[in-house]
Amino acid sequence: MTDQFPGDYDCMVIGAHPDDAELCCGGTIAKMTSEGKKVVLVDCTKGEMGTRGSDELRLREAQDAAKILGVYNRINLGFRDGFIKIDEEHLYAMVKTIRKYRPKIILVHPWFERHPDHENMHRLFRDAMFKSGLRKFATEDEGNVQEIFRTRRIFCYQQAYQLPRLPDFFVDISDVHEIKIQAIKAFSSQVFVPGQYENEPRTRLSSPEFMEELIARARYFGGLCGVKYAEPFVSVEPILLRSMSRFL
Ligand SMILES: [Zn+2]
Repeated sequence: MTDQFPGDYDCMVIGAHPDDAELCCGGTIAKMTSEGKKVVLVDCTKGEMGTRGSDELRLREAQDAAKILGVYNRINLGFRDGFIKIDEEHLYAMVKTIRKYRPKIILVHPWFERHPDHENMHRLFRDAMFKSGLRKFATEDEGNVQEIFRTRRIFCYQQAYQLPRLPDFFVDISDVHEIKIQAIKAFSSQVFVPGQYENEPRTRLSSPEFMEELIARARYFGGLCGVKYAEPFVSVEPILLRSMSRFL
């Protein structure tokens, strides 16, 4: 995975497994890139515990999906799938990643989720974000001591469960919804794509009903907001507007 594009990013999307970002907020990502924003996707494991496909195949699919979404960079931290822990080694890797890409916005799993890796990823990231602001938690990247970095703009996307509280805001993804679907279909070993990997074991994710659910969910959230498709988010920190003019 490419790792040669450090710097100040507009947005970092963290997912425990290679398809989490696309499934949960692929539309929001496509929207940002369509506006010329610099986005990095951080996959924490290769998804090697998944029932279908292999880690090499999933890495390839992840790069294809990244191209469809138009992100600037996609990296894989190589954590062990199914065993994400909050220990010094994982924290060091996460802090190093935050300080390397310095994103203004971070999208991450919520703290209440079905897959243990998702919940652990949220907790690991939150701990790492705090430590990323501590001078005495020193990290190095390619022999250079990294600068501290923190952002308060941490937003959780929705996945298997309802968000742990009502969404704080929604992003209108109506005009990029098809790009999101194409990016998800790039993971053809994982989701339902007619004629592909039909001899692999069936999973919930690979059923035709799962894609229908995903579309229906975005349609439902869009309907709540008076647009066609939307994705919901919960903010970890209170959201502060500079002025009410934001709505004018
Ligand atoms: Zn996942």
